[in-house]
Amino acid sequence: MATADGTSSSRGAAINDTIAAIATPPGRGAVGIVRLSGPEAVAIAECMTGALPPPRTVALRGFRDAAGVVVDHGLVLYFKAPHSYTGEDVVELQGHGGTVVTGMVLAAALAAGARQARPGEFSQRAYLNDRMDLAQAEAVADLIDAATRSAARAAERSLQGVFSRRVEALQRALIEVRVRVEGALDFSEEEAGWFGAELQWAMEQARDELEALLAAGTQGRRLTEGYTVAIAGQPNVGKSTLMNRLAGTDAAIVTAIPGTTRDVLRESLDLDGLPVTLVDTAGLRDSDDPIEREGILRATHAFTRCELILYLVDAREGVTATDRTLMATLPPAVRHLVILNKADLLGERPLPDGAPLAISAADGRGIAQLVRAIRESAGVEDAPAAFSTRSRHLDALRRTHDHLELAWGYLRDGDAAELAAEELRAAHRSLGEICGELDSEELLGRIFAGFCIGK
Ligand code: GDP
Ligand code: MG
Repeated sequence: MATADGTSSSRGAAINDTIAAIATPPGRGAVGIVRLSGPEAVAIAECMTGALPPPRTVALRGFRDAAGVVVDHGLVLYFKAPHSYTGEDVVELQGHGGTVVTGMVLAAALAAGARQARPGEFSQRAYLNDRMDLAQAEAVADLIDAATRSAARAAERSLQGVFSRRVEALQRALIEVRVRVEGALDFSEEEAGWFGAELQWAMEQARDELEALLAAGTQGRRLTEGYTVAIAGQPNVGKSTLMNRLAGTDAAIVTAIPGTTRDVLRESLDLDGLPVTLVDTAGLRDSDDPIEREGILRATHAFTRCELILYLVDAREGVTATDRTLMATLPPAVRHLVILNKADLLGERPLPDGAPLAISAADGRGIAQLVRAIRESAGVEDAPAAFSTRSRHLDALRRTHDHLELAWGYLRDGDAAELAAEELRAAHRSLGEICGELDSEELLGRIFAGFCIGK
């Protein structure tokens, strides 16, 4: 339960101060909102505005600073604990949206006893007061940071608990399995034998759901964390032209002179809902020009940090011996797709058998297929992701899966029910990390530090 007297949150963390922050983005705007949350929120706001209106009603008030000077006037909105975003008393002061004036309202709140909130601290309090679980709190940040409409929709579904509910259902299924296995520890082997088939069924159900969740979660993670794709190839094969075609801009300079691109260029794209960072690089070749050599060095570095490399070749030449040598220098851990560019120059010449994807960056042919290939490589199929996730969640799901498999192995080989029970406990623990049943200060610190201030 939320605590009006501010002693402790339902998750046990002590919260005894009142935080304040500007909740609207910096700059000029129609409104600028200062938000207060905590045990002293009402007292601090009343010191600035006089008596508050009843909860969930709005009043027009002057906002006074410590000297009693009205610095702005606007709407006051009061949410009484526990029916607020944070679960604490929350007051919003909605004034005029200017950098200076909103800052003065915040300064007045701080002078009246509030403390400047850290990034994500309002959401952290919402989590600590059980207003949402950890995966939902993360979805708040992912919704705010969503780079595409699909990403925003997926984050909204996670915020509504679509992902958390599936994790919780799985948690209940795991508890069922644990109950059976721990119960079996008390029986002799002959007695325990009768429930083997039922236990196997329960474990298979849990594993199937875990795998389904991992598959859906992999798609969801792409939407929040995006996908980084680099374009590689020899000079003049059309890398920068492809970059511009996919980005729909003229970001990269294109000329017929080999060695034009010397820097690493990045563009953010929305590939049918998939947020992609596309990286254009200098063409790979031996060069005496120190600037070009630096560009090639940077390109090589960029390849190690991307998830997919589009290796472009001139369709008229196909993959040459030089290309094979260059491709061998690409980081082996990163997938690469060979793409034939300048297909428009092939005329009637047919593509060689088993030819890779052929495109024309100049006239756009094959680009739709290329986009599909990129999406497929990212593991994002046609259906939009049902919810958003993060690598942290997938990592926990994978560990849960591993423990479950080990447990199953021990049970199958018989006589190792103790070890199986231990693995099932570990599976339960890993899964619990997702919604924050078993959190640590360090984990919470890391998660909420990624939020914006005022959320
Ligand atoms: P980069 O060095 O790999 O970045 O290659 P650029 O994008 O700078 O292109 C080199 C030259 O090839 C330019 O003259 C482009 O106009 C031309 N080019 C690029 N893509 C195509 C294509 O698909 N078809 C044709 N006909 N020309 C292209
Ligand atoms: Mg270029």
